[in-house]
Amino acid sequence: MNFKSLVGQENAKKILVQTVDRDHLPNSFLFFGPEGVGKWAAALALTAYLNCRDRTNGDSCGKCPPCRQIQKLQFPNLHIAVPTPPSKSEKEESENYWEILNAKIAEPYSLIGGKRQMSIPVAAVRHMKRSLSQKPPVDGKRVVIIEQMDRMLTASADALLKLIEEPPSRTVIIITSSRPEKILPTIISRCRRIRFSHLNEASIRSYLTDRADMGEKKSALLARLSGGSLGRALYMAEDENLQDREIAKLVFKGIFQADAAEVIAEASDLLPLNDRFRLNRVISQWQTLFRDLMLLQSGADAEKVINIDFASELERLAGRNMKREALVKIPAQLGAVIEDIDLNVEPSTAIGAALIDIQKKLAV
Ligand SMILES: [Zn+2]
Repeated sequence: MNFKSLVGQENAKKILVQTVDRDHLPNSFLFFGPEGVGKWAAALALTAYLNCRDRTNGDSCGKCPPCRQIQKLQFPNLHIAVPTPPSKSEKEESENYWEILNAKIAEPYSLIGGKRQMSIPVAAVRHMKRSLSQKPPVDGKRVVIIEQMDRMLTASADALLKLIEEPPSRTVIIITSSRPEKILPTIISRCRRIRFSHLNEASIRSYLTDRADMGEKKSALLARLSGGSLGRALYMAEDENLQDREIAKLVFKGIFQADAAEVIAEASDLLPLNDRFRLNRVISQWQTLFRDLMLLQSGADAEKVINIDFASELERLAGRNMKREALVKIPAQLGAVIEDIDLNVEPSTAIGAALIDIQKKLAV
């Protein structure tokens, strides 16, 4: 992974290269912005740039031993913490850890997620502190990447804060997060903040066709549905037969039917209730469907809708009488459902209650 292979993020790239070239490297960075837009990839590109033995034109070479080791996440001076599912033993924890890292090696833009709630284990920080107490490298820099820092438990975050306050020499800490508001402000204030933004549809589409080897039509649809997140597009692509998409559309349609309450009750049988990651995929599709409906209701062109494969159905629904002021609030309400499930609220209860509430509020 080098800067050249990053998708978009020209601004972030420029700042990162400059901080190294001008020797203005801070002790800690916070890479923040939406999920799946390249924070992880940029962290690795920076690690490579700091340690490459043959830097040219503001980038690492990709061929020297440190570059190759960094690509395989086996560079001795690279320490990584990632959220993992709850584990029963140290062995299981290490297996879960490597399963996630291997997925990231295969596809740096893939999202990290699982059936159950994920967090950065306390042991990860302890382990990291131990590694960092050893001698720093003679050349290059030691790099610590803390992926999705917002998923770190408070006790660990306190331990990390000490590390950031008294950084070991020749060490750079890179924290990434799509929810920086959940990180201790004392940590954030000590980091150089680098913003990552949504990617444009065209660059996501070409990544999907060129690098992920996907057909033109599917790439176009997923790029449109991804909302500017390549990770989200790749994640939706894992839903090979678009099964979750069909479920999302079916339940969405049901909300507008006369027997909505029944449809919502039956939805529990269809929804992947024991898999948070898949549920997240379904709920976020509802968000885009409601956004499209709102757009069409306010008279926008059908070409503007995100759900291009569902445009005629959306147009039909938009022709119905419903409370427009209620429609506006639905995407945020569904966002709160995703958060609730993330905080361990029982999914069928959270979703059922929200759908019934939405149906009532929309009814004229
Ligand atoms: Zn190199």
